[in-house]
Amino acid sequence: MTVLAVRHASMVYPGPVTALDDVCLRIAAGELLAIVGPSGSGKSTLLNIMGTLDRPTSGTVEIAGLDVSRLSDRRLSALRARMLGFVFQRFHLADGLSATENVATGLLYAGVPRRRRRPLAQQALARVGLAHRVNHLPHQLSGGERQRVAIARALVNEPALVLADEPTGALDSHNGHAVLDLLHRLHEEGTTIAIITHDRDTADGLPRKIEIRDGRLVSDTAS
Ligand code: ADP
Repeated sequence: MTVLAVRHASMVYPGPVTALDDVCLRIAAGELLAIVGPSGSGKSTLLNIMGTLDRPTSGTVEIAGLDVSRLSDRRLSALRARMLGFVFQRFHLADGLSATENVATGLLYAGVPRRRRRPLAQQALARVGLAHRVNHLPHQLSGGERQRVAIARALVNEPALVLADEPTGALDSHNGHAVLDLLHRLHEEGTTIAIITHDRDTADGLPRKIEIRDGRLVSDTAS
């Protein structure tokens, strides 16, 4: 089953700058892959269109078979909340909220009733090995633990696809490896994950690697 398809997507910014040039990409359920390229190669632009945060200048993006360009902003937000999970380099946790509350925000926009949010958040924290940290605030957690909270938030709604943008970029190598090990384990448990990175070492250990250069996909180990 295809969870995400990008078809002939280009993105031209004013200038003009061609940040993406005729990109085609298909991600099947259950995959773990890296999209790797140097700074300025178009990774963020591609991530933004895969995450439906931006629309390509031309071409289409389909999530679970739905052409997202045909959806209103409201339906698009609902689809994003139900189908996608996001992990960022700098975690993006809310400072004043506990680990449980941060993870529960992942359920807010998906329309999960309030009474169910806390137990689901705690289950997701247990899945990432943080059952003993559920009431901690972000500043009481290490960087690696904060990223695990962010991963729990991305997973709590069982999204079709998790998009992770440089997930180890703000961590030391020990914590970075631990986060990658966690992503591998979640993949083995059935989660579909795309990691966007400039770091070859991160990409090399993954089952599929797609290279982007100057806005074009230049290699894909799956093809
Ligand atoms: P990466 O994430 O791989 O560093 P980006 O997707 O951020 O690459 O950028 C790809 C290219 O598009 C770069 O040349 C960048 O300068 C340009 N670019 C990105 N965003 C904009 C924008 N909003 N306006 C104009 N040019 C942009």
